[in-house]
Amino acid sequence: MAATLRFAPSPNGRLHLGHVYSARLNAELAEKLGGKFLLRIEDIDTTRCTSALTEACMDDLAWLGFRWETPVRIQSEHFADYAAAQARLMEQGLLYPCFCTRRQVEETSTARDPDGAPIYSGTCKHLVDAQSRIAAGEAHAWRLDMAKAISAPLEYVAFSLPEMTLTAVSADPAVWGDAVLVRKDTPTSYHLSVVVDDALQGITHVVRGQDLEASTSIHVLLQQLLGLPTPLYHHHELLQDDEGRKLSKSLSSRSITELRAAGETPESVLGLLP
Ligand code: GLU
Repeated sequence: MAATLRFAPSPNGRLHLGHVYSARLNAELAEKLGGKFLLRIEDIDTTRCTSALTEACMDDLAWLGFRWETPVRIQSEHFADYAAAQARLMEQGLLYPCFCTRRQVEETSTARDPDGAPIYSGTCKHLVDAQSRIAAGEAHAWRLDMAKAISAPLEYVAFSLPEMTLTAVSADPAVWGDAVLVRKDTPTSYHLSVVVDDALQGITHVVRGQDLEASTSIHVLLQQLLGLPTPLYHHHELLQDDEGRKLSKSLSSRSITELRAAGETPESVLGLLP
């Protein structure tokens, strides 16, 4: 199978150097392996992601010299694919509806997941009136019944760069508790859509930041439950800003758009990367 890699930004802000670093690692590896480099727009959060930001993101990447295969997969155009995956998990009895508010989840939780969010205490796991509440139109999310979903120890294969040494890594999806797979505010979730899309797009190598390393465990579990292949994974270091903080859109690091406006060239911007 031809190597296929993807850069999958969420257009809820401007691209910054950390994104470019990730995109470049993906594009370089695709080239080295003689494979494809895809761009995927992860805009399931339709309130925070806009088409203007999607366009700005593509424009910045093209200005930097990146070229990708078309058509670009825009997640907000494919909610039906995520609904089909949800249906498969529901047929297996692995999802349950959760009506809790953010506050109720916070107040009843006693532990945190790898993102620092409260682990769900299971309030809605054994409701008797769930169907009537859904029928009455009450807003709800769908959670994965983690204890039911895990049937055996799971592993995935990680690779190093640039050596491409392979290492077996044990996955530990239980650290997420009963994670939300279909959100209340949008009919999917990051975990569900990323797994569906990586399979649909034939992704063979996932290269993404270390901040997503813990997510790989739940992705591997979902791939197993949905009968999808598991790609190879590399989790790269995160760039730091001058104060040693992780570079992110919410911090003061300058966006590519700002660097362009300040007169930087594609070469000088790429030259800022390690
Ligand atoms: N959309 C995610 C982000 O911008 C990346 C998802 C992934 O690479 O799996 O953080």
